[in-house]
Amino acid sequence: MLRLGLWSDKTVRDTLLDRTHLGKIVIGKTKGNGHKKRPKDADGVVMIDQKDWKEYQGLHEAVKTQEEHDFILMHLARKTKMVKRSTSKTIYPLTKILKCGLCGHFLGFQQRQERPVEVRKCWYTDPYGVRCPNMAVSMVQINAAVQQAVEEQIRDVELKITSVDANRIEHLKNKLIELNRGVTAKERALEKEQKAFQADIYTVDEYKAIVLKLKGSITALNNEIVATKTEIKFLEESSSAEKLNVLLEFKRLIVNPDLTYEMQNELYKTILECVEYKRTEAGGIELNILFK
Ligand SMILES: [Zn+2]
Repeated sequence: MLRLGLWSDKTVRDTLLDRTHLGKIVIGKTKGNGHKKRPKDADGVVMIDQKDWKEYQGLHEAVKTQEEHDFILMHLARKTKMVKRSTSKTIYPLTKILKCGLCGHFLGFQQRQERPVEVRKCWYTDPYGVRCPNMAVSMVQINAAVQQAVEEQIRDVELKITSVDANRIEHLKNKLIELNRGVTAKERALEKEQKAFQADIYTVDEYKAIVLKLKGSITALNNEIVATKTEIKFLEESSSAEKLNVLLEFKRLIVNPDLTYEMQNELYKTILECVEYKRTEAGGIELNILFK
């Protein structure tokens, strides 16, 4: 894409409006030996009307499409009306989290004096100049809905832990106890067989075979212990258990009155993927809250 910010206005205009960037080469711009770089007013060179130019599409690769060209023309035409966005860098609690539920763009915020933060009406204007109709709303309303959603999410995650993960973890921990008992039993057997061998009960070959078999069993049990411990660790750290910890930590910290908006924003980002907001026709608000 073309990066407008880096160029001077004139360069941008000249480059963007240059029709050769569309992959069209204009032939017959001047009559006579125009292609030999003669001055336009030189003898034998006559300027002709743009509409009479023959355009040959596709003779070289286009750097922009016809659509982009039209879009750029439109923007240049109403450049005076264009307002630079995000002049203030203030970060609000839901900056880069709260999105417009109609057009999907992140929404802006403002705060007048000691009043609550307000979500500004959607700033987005489509390429045809149509402004997104999503309305402004007080953060008080958004906050209430988000806090309620957090509570519901905590309940959901807790439910998941008790019904799935906790049962599995308990089962694995019992299995681990059994496996350890198994190892102890085999080691005792090994000691017993050693004494039997010393008492000349077995031949060397018989004893070797018994030891080999017992040691093989112990190795197998130890491998299973490692695998079980890994699964327990995974279940405890990942998934719902960890998710619940993050949510509870969020709930504990977010009420701290000393948090700046920026710190609140960081905190919200630990649990929220995004929040989509839209004003309903009845004047209510509709939120779609996506948790991480
Ligand atoms: Zn919008």
